[in-house]
Amino acid sequence: MVVDIHVAREPSPAEAELLSRLDWFIRLRWLAVSGLLITIGVVGFIFPAVFPLLPMLVIAAIIAGYNLAFWLYARRLRLPRSEDTYRRRYREFIHLQIVLDLVALTVLLHLAGGRENPFAFYYVFYVIIVSILLPQRSAFVYAGLVTALFGGLVFLEHIGLLPHTDLAPVTGVASTRNSLYVLGEIGAFASTVFLVVYMASGIARRLHERTQVYLDTVRSLEERTQELSEANARLRQADKARADFVLVVTHELRAPIAAIQSFLRVILEGYAPNPAKQRELLERADARATEMLDLIANLLELSRLTAGEQGELKLLDMGEVLLNIVDVMRVMAEHKGLMFSVEVDPHLPPVRANESRLKEVWTNLISNAIKYTPSGGIVVVSAYQTPYYVVGSVRDTGIGIAPEDQARLFTPFFRTEGAKSLTKEGTGLGLSIVKQIVESYGGRIWVESRPGQGSKFSFALPRAHPPATSSTG
Ligand code: ADP
Repeated sequence: MVVDIHVAREPSPAEAELLSRLDWFIRLRWLAVSGLLITIGVVGFIFPAVFPLLPMLVIAAIIAGYNLAFWLYARRLRLPRSEDTYRRRYREFIHLQIVLDLVALTVLLHLAGGRENPFAFYYVFYVIIVSILLPQRSAFVYAGLVTALFGGLVFLEHIGLLPHTDLAPVTGVASTRNSLYVLGEIGAFASTVFLVVYMASGIARRLHERTQVYLDTVRSLEERTQELSEANARLRQADKARADFVLVVTHELRAPIAAIQSFLRVILEGYAPNPAKQRELLERADARATEMLDLIANLLELSRLTAGEQGELKLLDMGEVLLNIVDVMRVMAEHKGLMFSVEVDPHLPPVRANESRLKEVWTNLISNAIKYTPSGGIVVVSAYQTPYYVVGSVRDTGIGIAPEDQARLFTPFFRTEGAKSLTKEGTGLGLSIVKQIVESYGGRIWVESRPGQGSKFSFALPRAHPPATSSTG
C-alpha cells in the first residue's frame, strides 16, 4: 500500500478549485482523443483515400502522450505547496496545455480540410474558457494566437505554401447539399456549444459557491466580532464591579479598625484613668473586633461561593434543617417581643444541598426578619412543596422595603436607608451570600414587600427527585 506522507496540509478552497479545473481539462482531453480516434476510424472507413490517416493518428497519439504527461504532473501538483508557488505553476501548466491543444487542433484541421472543416468552431470553445479562467490580457493574447493559427493556416493553404486537403470528394461540389458534411457541421457546432455551456456554467457555479462560502465567512466573522465586543464590554463591567467591591471592602474594614485604634489610644494616652472606663473602652473595641471578624467571615464565604464551591452535597429535608436552628431564632425573636411561628409540611421531599449552607440561608433570612421588625410584630417561617420545588419563606410585619430598593437587596453591601437608621448592625452581605447559595443549587430567591407593612423572602430549591410527568389516572 502506498501512503502519501506529503498530504499533511488540506488544500485551501482556492487550491482545490484550481486542481479540479486541471482535472477537467485532462479528463476532457481523454474524451477528445477517444472522439478523434473514432472519427478517424469512421472517415477512414467511409473515405479511405481522402484523408491522410496516418498523420492524423500520429497527432492523436501525440495528444494522448502529452495528456498522460499532464495527468502525471497534475498528481504532483497536488502535493502541499505555498499558494503563490502553486498559482504560478498552475498558470504555466494551463498555458502549456492550451497552446499545445490549439497547435494540435490547427494541425488536425490542416490535415482534414483546413478552412472547410467545421471543427474550426473548437477555437471559439477555447477562447471562451480562457476568458473565464485566465486574466483578460492572457485571453486577448489567446484571441490573437487563435487568429494567427487559423488565419495563418487558411492563408498558407491559400497561397499554396501548405498543401490543402480538398474535401470535394466528401462534400461534392456544393457542400451545403452534402448531408454527411452538413451533419458533421451541425455536430461540430452542437458539440462546441454544449461544451462551452458545460464548462462555463460549471466554472460559474463553482465560483458562485466559493463566493457564497466567502460571504458566509464574512457574516460569521461579523457575528464573532459583535460577540467579542459584547464579551469585552461585560468584562470591563465585571472589572469595574470588582474594583468597586474592593473599594467598599477596604472602607468597611477600615472603619472598625479605626474605631478600635481610637479606643486604645484613649487608654494609652491616659484619658481613661479609672479601670471601669478602661474596661468599657476595651469592651467596645472587642465588639468592633467581633464585628470585623464577622465581616471577614462573610467576605470569605462570599468569595468561596463566587469561586463555585458548593460544599458536600446531601439529600436533605429542608424542614428538618430549619427545625435545627429554629429554637435559637425563637429565643431571639421572643427576646425582642415578636410573635414567632413556624409552619412546616411534615412530608417534604428531599433537596440536594449542603447542610451548613442551608442553615446559613435560614439563619440569615430569619435573623433579618427579627432585626428589621420592631417589637410587637410577627415573624412567620414556613416550608412547603410544589410539584418541582421545595419552598422556604420568611414573612415579617417589619419596616418593609421600597420597590426601587428591592432589586438591589442582593448586591453586596447594599443596605436600605430604613435599615441603616434602625440599626447599625449589619454588613449588607447576608442576602448576597443567601442568593449565591440558593442559585448554586439551581434554585432562586425573591422578595415581596411593602414599605411599613412587612416583607416576605422566599427561596425555592429543586426537589432532588422530580415527580414523573405522566399521570397515573
Ligand atoms: P444586613 O442585614 O447585614 O444589612 P443583608 O444582606 O442581610 O444585610 O440585607 C441587605 C439589606 O436588605 C438590609 O440592610 C435591609 O436594608 C434589607 N433587608 C433584608 N431583610 C429585610 C427584612 N426582613 N425587612 C426589611 N429589610 C430587609
